Amino acid sequence: MESFPQPRVVVSKCLGFEHCRYDGSVINDPFVAMLEPHVDFIKVCPEKEIGLGVPRSPIRLVQENKHKRVFQPATGKDVTDEMARFIDDFLGNLEPVDGFILKHRSPSCGLGSVKIYYGFEEKVNHFRGKGMFGEAILQSHGSLPVEDEGRLRNFSIREHFLTRLYTMAAFREFKQNPSMKGLVNFHTNNKMLFMAHNQNTMKELGRITANHEQHPLEKVIGSYEVLMRKMLASMPRFTSWINVLQHAFGFISDGLNSEEKNFFLNSVEEYRDERIPLSTLIKLLKSYALRFNQEYLLRQTFLNPFPLDLVQITDSGKGRNM
Ligand code: SF4
Repeated sequence: MESFPQPRVVVSKCLGFEHCRYDGSVINDPFVAMLEPHVDFIKVCPEKEIGLGVPRSPIRLVQENKHKRVFQPATGKDVTDEMARFIDDFLGNLEPVDGFILKHRSPSCGLGSVKIYYGFEEKVNHFRGKGMFGEAILQSHGSLPVEDEGRLRNFSIREHFLTRLYTMAAFREFKQNPSMKGLVNFHTNNKMLFMAHNQNTMKELGRITANHEQHPLEKVIGSYEVLMRKMLASMPRFTSWINVLQHAFGFISDGLNSEEKNFFLNSVEEYRDERIPLSTLIKLLKSYALRFNQEYLLRQTFLNPFPLDLVQITDSGKGRNM
């Protein structure tokens, strides 16, 4: 039975936790509900926190002199300063976290596609941008996995989010009792996952871990984390996954007969042609690693990046599944 760290995730409170939307409703999001037993959620509703009450008249964002104002048309109230104070306070007191799931299109929590009006009058044009809280999160914690529940309906985005989330949580746990040996272990276990993201950066992370310059541990960990976060921000390309699969196959291929070898290599081609998902090949590799007790492969996080309970094959249908 694999053990996983418990990620700490900031979540919009209306995503299943409280009837705090402007109209007193709550959104039951299946992914957030599925995640709940596995993570520590830090639930927040910025609009409620600034005293707007539930139910409340909706607020809207207005662009004024290149600055966003938070405006409640029905009351004429401008609550920009209250929202800015809340955000400073919340972020200033936030313990280290591993990721964020925010409500999409909300003028407070939204990370994009939020309507921003050109004026305070009722009938004015708008453009699309970020909510005030969502924008502040991206500025302060943008190197962590930050997503909205709308984007997380996409299979690939969800898998990437979970992989980053659990990698960040494992790194945060490692930092609670840091050592050079611990960093070497972390890097070794993640080598193939990192290779899928960017082979050159994976090597650079290896150089940082080797620490030939004898930098202090704190500096080494800091440099490693900055580079790792940057690397993990981009989703691996499927061609990089093919390189990783072939590289991993090298660790077990000697024990296979020619039919088994051909079967695996043909399956890689089927993955290339989008006829089978990546998970099929990863399962196959894992079964070989178990059969040959290939310890190095069995340590690799890419074989098991997050708990199996969180695998959900539903998809919004946008983009190639991994
Ligand atoms: S989107 Fe954000 S501000 Fe709006 S109800 Fe949900 S948690 Fe509250």
